[in-house]
Parts: sequence; C-alpha cells; structure tokens
Amino acid sequence: MTLSSLGCSRVVAGMWRVLEWKMSERELSNYVQDAIESGISTFDHADVYGRGAVETLFGQALTYSPGQRHKLQLVSKVGIRPTNSPGVRIKHYDTSATYLRDSVEQSLVRLKTDYLDLFLIHRPDPLPCLDEIAEAAQTLKQQGKIRAFGVSNYSTQQFDLLHARTALSTNQFECSPFEAGAVESGMFTALAQADVSPMIWSPLGGGRLFSETDPVAVRVREAMKSVQEHLGASSWQAIAYAWLFRLPGTPYVIAGSRRREALVDALEGVKLQLSREHWFAILEAARGQPVA
Ligand code: NAP
Repeated sequence: MTLSSLGCSRVVAGMWRVLEWKMSERELSNYVQDAIESGISTFDHADVYGRGAVETLFGQALTYSPGQRHKLQLVSKVGIRPTNSPGVRIKHYDTSATYLRDSVEQSLVRLKTDYLDLFLIHRPDPLPCLDEIAEAAQTLKQQGKIRAFGVSNYSTQQFDLLHARTALSTNQFECSPFEAGAVESGMFTALAQADVSPMIWSPLGGGRLFSETDPVAVRVREAMKSVQEHLGASSWQAIAYAWLFRLPGTPYVIAGSRRREALVDALEGVKLQLSREHWFAILEAARGQPVA
C-alpha cells in the first residue's frame, strides 16, 4: 500500500521528543486534535521513544477523544533493544519474527489500539533473516494488526532486497540540507521508481537550523530567507520544508516540534514550489560551494 492509500498526511507529527514537551495527557490530546484539524493525521512513534512511555502517554491521550481512531494513522518502529530492557545486557538490533510480532503486540497495548497503520523496522539489522521478516510482516497483516509494513534508515540495496520479498510502503530516513546523503545516493529516485514515498526525519536538522553560532546554519537560513522573499512565503521555515517536498517520490515529512506554528510552516511547505535555482541555492549554502 502507498502512504497515500493509507491516508497519511504529507506532514507527519513526530513523537520522539514528546517527553521533553512535559505535556499532560490532556495537553497531548489537545495537540493531537489541533494537528488533525490542521490536516496532520499521521503520528510517528517508536517503541524506544521514552522506552515505551511515549506510546503509553499517547494511548492515554487518545482516551480523551474517543471514536477518533479512524481519523488517525499510527506509525511505529521496532527492532532496537536497548540495555536495561528485560533480559538485555548489550544494546542490539533484533528483527527475528518472534521479536517483531511481540513488539507489535506491546505497541498496540500501549497505544490502546488494535492495529498500526504502518509498522517499520527501525534500523537495518546486520544479522537479518529476510524470509523471517517477510513472513512476520505477512502474518501481522493477515491478522489485521498492521495495515502496511516498511523500513527505516535502510540503504537502497537493503531496501531492494527486502522489497523483493515483501511489499514495503516506505523507507523513513534523515534528510535536510545538513544531511543530504539520501539526495546524493539516489535514494529518492530509486524509491520513486518503485512507486514508494519516502518519510523524512529531522527536516530542520533536529533544530540545528536555528543555531546562531553554527556558520552552516546561518548560511542556510539566509538562503532560505532569500527564497522566502522571492516566493512571498510567510516564513523561511516553510521554505525548509518546501526544499524537501521538492524532492522526487512525493516525500512525507515528519515535523518534530511541539509548537503549532511549526506545523503550520510545514503545511505551507507542501504548497510552495521551489524553482531549480531556489533549490540549488539552499544546497550550495549548506555545502559552502556550488555543485561541480
Ligand atoms: P526537526 O523538526 O528537524 O527538529 C525538531 C526540533 O527543532 C525540536 O527540538 C523543535 O523545538 C526545534 N524547532 C522546530 N521549529 C523551531 C523554531 N521555529 N525555533 C526553534 N526551534 C525549533 O525533527 P526531529 O524532532 O529531529 O525529528 C522529527 C521526527 O522524526 C521525530 O519526532 C521522530 O518521530 C522521527 N525520527 C525518526 C528517526 C528514525 O531513526 N527513523 C530518527 C529521529 C527522528 P520545539 O519543539 O521547541 O519547536
């Protein structure tokens, strides 16, 4: 299934930093309602966010607005086993079928739901059994516990190998003018060819874009402000998102801010159309030199 057919919103709300936001269940419920009303219906989780505490808080927040589940798309990622989890001495990755199935069950309990819209493997496992992963994904779909399956932080080759065994709906990876490896590796084009939309994390470099002391951030912001003026956009932050939405494959972008204005900037970014020169001016500012 494509992200579009799952009903995902082009701007996804990222839940990684939720515990830093110090929100009560009621406040998080209001955040979710606000997001839905603005057109953001997809929420990105992982079992390791707050070691389960983020999913638990979100599940509790959902109880304040019963009957809304069908309006949301819940994404969650598993496969990282941190130290101090029961029975784990060394942090490691686990993509065994048993672990994947058990992890989904636990996320469902925490999120107080009976299905995930999209279930992702958080990081590529150096010791994978691809057939086992494919079988687990198939079983979970047949049981109605997940609607779609995908991966995160996979290389093009890792993606292709697994996609040949089971349909992957996305690859979720980092991208911003600071971290443009996926642009340079051809990841966007490869996914577009496979009719798969990427999901992008840390679109603002995890906040680096706001640094007053980082010279790259200062340059990139200046370039974005210049494009903002040309396009008459309401903020330079909207240009930061538009830079990502301009990439091939109809990207979905995960915004990680607690603030409503940041989500509004992201939504404006979907509508803006950067010219090639606008786009390359921002890349040039990040690299500190023009393309060859
Ligand atoms: P981001 O949007 O690049 O960064 C968010 C940070 O930028 C927040 O600390 C936010 O603070 C700050 N920020 C945003 N607008 C600001 C403004 N106008 N002024 C000052 N600060 C501002 O994204 P991210 O949080 O790094 O990542 C987004 C999501 O991607 C995560 O929540 C998670 O769901 C996902 N993710 C996935 C992976 C993976 O391996 N698959 C890895 C990392 C993240 P405020 O809240 O104060 O605005």
